[in-house]
Order: sequence, then structure tokens, then C-alpha cells
Amino acid sequence: MHVIVVCHTEYGYVKNKEVIYEEKGVDGVRRGVHNLIAIADRYGAKITFVVMPETAEHFPKNVGKHEVGLHIHSGWVEKRYKTFRWYVGDKYLMEHCKVSVNSAFLQDLNYKDQLTLIETGKDYLCDIFKVDPRVFVAGRWSENNDTVNALVNAGFTHDLSACPYQKSSSTSDWSKLPRICMPYHPSIENYQEKGDLPLWIVPVSQFFPFGNVSPEEVPYVGLSSLKACFLEYYKQNLPLFHIYLHSPSMTDIWFCSIVDELLSFISKRNVQFIVASQITDYGKTNPRTDLFPYLARPDGGFITILTRLKKMKASLTKETLMTEIPRAYSSRNT
Ligand SMILES: [Zn+2]
Repeated sequence: MHVIVVCHTEYGYVKNKEVIYEEKGVDGVRRGVHNLIAIADRYGAKITFVVMPETAEHFPKNVGKHEVGLHIHSGWVEKRYKTFRWYVGDKYLMEHCKVSVNSAFLQDLNYKDQLTLIETGKDYLCDIFKVDPRVFVAGRWSENNDTVNALVNAGFTHDLSACPYQKSSSTSDWSKLPRICMPYHPSIENYQEKGDLPLWIVPVSQFFPFGNVSPEEVPYVGLSSLKACFLEYYKQNLPLFHIYLHSPSMTDIWFCSIVDELLSFISKRNVQFIVASQITDYGKTNPRTDLFPYLARPDGGFITILTRLKKMKASLTKETLMTEIPRAYSSRNT
């Protein structure tokens, strides 16, 4: 089985086990990337870093066997959550691209605007790192048919933005994909259907009953849910397991210990850690739901599972507790 670990590289820090994406959190890139590489190296794991152009100057110039790809947050939006306030968007792209709509969701932008952001971001990463990024993640998982077409035309080969099963209002939609979904070529008419575009869509692994396999879900669902999900995939010989996280979480000792334990657990099995651009055709697979690993875990009791389900819901409603206000960009307001 192949395992990929995808790190969205952004500014920010951790407060009470939650990632706050504030621009002043430069350590979210500097220390976060450094710490994650140190943990990964212990287990021979490779990391696919998808880098926001605005953070590139703080990202190490040479990451050896790990990989650099592109991560795009469009627009310029002020976010408020509890007592925190920050801006979502990419300063570099704001200063170097002219697009017609101010939206944090790529799917609100027309084809031309999406292509402009993707090409500008790619060229900048090429200049800084002297490598041609091939893999991509859309901010907030927001895509449409124009996004996949723009990615193909800009020379990308792997898109890691799919969260199967999930739909958050009208801003991102991956609800047509089954929970367990292996890489596929999208159709030109519908990015959620199989077709023949020369791009791999590589969905994030999903635990039962729903939720991304990410260390950042552990405060809500427990590490045992992620381990159980890995076993669910592993025991039926599925070819790929896909974990994702954000670099600021790796500035926090608790999240670092979670990632360490998860990679240690996975590395004891017969797996190969690869970077995302190495993914090729796995042939036909027949994934099925297997509840046994979830029920067999030490804390798999019925009451614990009910409590966990409640917490999962809390994790999902977190987004709705945030307010978002589109703002005019000015280099002074960060
Ligand atoms: Zn992001």
C-alpha cells in the first residue's frame, strides 16, 4: 500500500488544539515544516508540501526527497472566530494577479481568473524552488470543472483537493464521490465523474462514518478513529491511503506527538511512503465499508462511539461559527 502525507503550507499557530491561520504566524511555515520533516524522517515518510505562494520565502529551499506543490487560496476575506481575527487569501497572488471577483472559493471565479492564479502561483514557485510543481490543492477544497481544466492547461498532473462525500453549502462539492474513493481521471464535463482528462484526482482518505483523515480531527474523533480507518483500507489491500494536515499544527507539541504516533503505527505495516506525483494507475478496486477495525479498537465501546459522533458534528459546525467578510486588499492590512 502507498501512503501519502500532504501538508498545506500556510501561516498560523495553534491555540487550544485549534489551528488559527493568522498571517503573523510565520513559524507556522518555518518551524512547522522543519518539525514535520524531522518526524517524517524518523519513519522514512515522504511529505508532499503544497505551498501557498505568499509563504514560499519562509519555506526551506531544498526539501530533499519530499515534494513541493501549489496551494491556492483565492480572494481576500476577513475571518472572525471566537476572539481571533485573520485574513484568508494570498498576499503574493493579490499583488500579482488581477481577477474579477473577490471570493475565497475558486469555484466562484471564471476559468480565466482561475488559470491566472494557478499559473502565477506556479511560476513563482518555479522561480524560488527551481522545480516545476505538478501537484495542487485548492483552498477550502473548492473546485469546479474550470479548475480541473485550468490545472491540465497549466501542466499539473495531480489534484489532491477532493474530500469524498462532503458538501459544504454551495462552496465546495465532492458529494458524488463514495466515502472510500481511489484516484481517478475526471471527465471534462464533470470533475466528480470518471473521464479521460490527463490529471489524477487523488481524494483524501475518509474514516467512518465521515471525516478527513487528518491529525487535526483527532481532538474531535480520537487517534483511534484514524488508526481504524488505516486498518479498514489496509486489510482490504486498497492501494492508497491519503493523510493531510496544515503546517501550523506542527508548531504544537501535542499535534507533533499525534503525527509521530500515527506514522509510527502505519510504518510497522507493509507500506511504502511516496510523494503524490508518484501516483499512477492502480487498476480496478472494489472498496467496501468494514466496521470491524472501528469496533475492535480499545475504546470502541458503544457509548464512546456515540460521544465521538457528537464531537464529529461539532467539528463540522465549527466552520459555521466563523464569520467571513470580503475586504479590499491593501498591503497594510495584515
Ligand atoms: Zn489552505
